[in-house]
Amino acid sequence: MFNVVRNEPAPTSLAGKRKYDSEDVWDALKKVFHKKCYICETSAPLEINVEHFVPHKGDEDLKYDWNNLYLSCGRCNNIKLTKFDDLLDCCDPDIDVVRAIKHKPPLTPYARKLQIEAQSDDDKTKLTAELLNRVFNSEHTQNKAYTASSLRRKVYDQYNLLLKQLNKYYEPLALPDEKDIAVERIKLLLTPSSPYSAFISWCILEDEELGPMLHDCIGIG
Ligand SMILES: [Zn+2]
Repeated sequence: MFNVVRNEPAPTSLAGKRKYDSEDVWDALKKVFHKKCYICETSAPLEINVEHFVPHKGDEDLKYDWNNLYLSCGRCNNIKLTKFDDLLDCCDPDIDVVRAIKHKPPLTPYARKLQIEAQSDDDKTKLTAELLNRVFNSEHTQNKAYTASSLRRKVYDQYNLLLKQLNKYYEPLALPDEKDIAVERIKLLLTPSSPYSAFISWCILEDEELGPMLHDCIGIG
């Protein structure tokens, strides 16, 4: 999960209260969420939905409220359903959703599990971690186990991009310029527009040297 800055005004079509997923809503959501699912951080997934963060249950105000519309992939939307309706809000500028939940990438491409761990004991954080655990580690059905495995593989591929830059940065003969370039590339992997940025963030957060150096590039700083 990553922090989303909702810096687009409410799309005008919402005022009519007839449709919550008109083209202007899609356009604004794609910008704000960087075309990523807010839950799993997959970029441009094959199936994507305009989701109501708080289920509207027929409430017209919630149904057409710009601040209640989120972008989620079909798979996460299906896993979330109504059970997970009190999650940490990635659009709340006061909640650092990256630091709230530990995300560790798989160590090998087909590792059976990756680590998701709530960093505090409150209900919202625990429920959000439970949802993320299902998203990335689910074995509830054959279908979910299969798709979770390919999702972990994608996280690994992104982690592998980080490993390449870490090796360049920590190479014993690395020149200052080469280290700088590696750091700039790591910053790209940490930006909210990059897929699986929470996993990359946690690798850096736990690095003695790069953690303090890149502190401000992670979450809401
Ligand atoms: Zn997703």
